[in-house]
Amino acid sequence: MDLFEYQGKQYFARYHIPVSPGGVADTVDEAVKVADQSGYPVVVKAQVQVGGRGKAGGIKLAKDAAEARYYADQILGMDIKGHTVHRVWVERASDIAEEYYASFTLDRAAKRYLGMLSAQGGVEIEAVAEKDPSAIALIYIDPTVGLSEAQCREWVAAAKLNPKATEGAVAILLKLYTCFTQGDADLVEINPLILTPDGSVHALDAKVTLDDDAAYRHPEWEEFRAMQQANLQGREKLAKEKGLQYVGLDGSVGIIANGAGLAMSTCDTVNQVGGRPANFLDIGGGANADVVANALTVISTDPNVRSIFINIFGGVTRCDEVARGILEGMERVKLTVPVVVRLDGTNSAEGRAIIDERVNAQLIRKNTMLEAAQTAVALAKGN
Ligand code: GDP
Ligand code: MN
Repeated sequence: MDLFEYQGKQYFARYHIPVSPGGVADTVDEAVKVADQSGYPVVVKAQVQVGGRGKAGGIKLAKDAAEARYYADQILGMDIKGHTVHRVWVERASDIAEEYYASFTLDRAAKRYLGMLSAQGGVEIEAVAEKDPSAIALIYIDPTVGLSEAQCREWVAAAKLNPKATEGAVAILLKLYTCFTQGDADLVEINPLILTPDGSVHALDAKVTLDDDAAYRHPEWEEFRAMQQANLQGREKLAKEKGLQYVGLDGSVGIIANGAGLAMSTCDTVNQVGGRPANFLDIGGGANADVVANALTVISTDPNVRSIFINIFGGVTRCDEVARGILEGMERVKLTVPVVVRLDGTNSAEGRAIIDERVNAQLIRKNTMLEAAQTAVALAKGN
């Protein structure tokens, strides 16, 4: 589960990571009230789960109540990359001397936690990684040993932060590590972590992904979940109601796959052959007519979709069952775009034969993932 910035900051505060004092508001009047309480100047921040809010105009500094009112009115209801702003976080504005980047995540291949720290914060870390990878200091941490203060100090030194920031950064990073591990997060990220002119260090932004498998030991996550659900919109909401793992993207090839890994590979393959996925959708293990019909229903409400690529690898779920599910599902949902199917794995010959009996201009079958991706992309481009 991904947290909103304000939830991330509440979560950080539980672990005594310093953040600016502030509060949330759903209306302009509430925003001004929070601003009055925080003390001016304030910063009014759109609460949407997408990066680059600053560049999109979703983060504004206000020097007095009139400006706070003006910006809250402008930001509430704003659309940022397809996300409507229903809530703002208003906090006391900070003076910034320098902006840093700090995060902890899991490196599965290394079987270690990975900490990243950079003196070049405030911008997207991907951009830093591309331009100057040496500007990011990495630390691999053995989860059974943990992060010692001495290691943390070395790490901070390697990142070449301003020496004035050293003590503050070491203290915050140790707390952030505790927050990440004891708090059962998959990712904690502070960008920017700032150094103020008076030499203090604190978090200006918060990005936190909680590990859903640990939810059973965190009853306090329930309030996060309730808010997340209430904020789902459109297709995401429809998909959630139907029990599908769906993430909307901005391309034109609708994607249905069984298993999250295959769904991701399918998105990658579509990209590799020059197309753009319209979504990520994992229909999970079973792929009966209900599931397929639900998936097609969700995807077909996306006006950008020009073709649909159904990519199935049969394991426990047999391809012949899936093939019947696809045909029945397609009968139930009125589609205006072509569907390309690739079936492989258990009982693939039987499954393919079932599809082949019904192949037409609307339903195309290809043997390999690559061929199917190429066909779906060509169809999406109108070829
Ligand atoms: P993001 O664009 O979604 O990552 O949102 P952030 O919360 O990281 O804010 C983006 C940028 O706005 C930061 O990198 C800062 O440069 C600026 N900003 C945010 N809060 C403050 C603040 O309190 N004071 C000042 N001066 N700038 C701020
Ligand atoms: Mn940020």
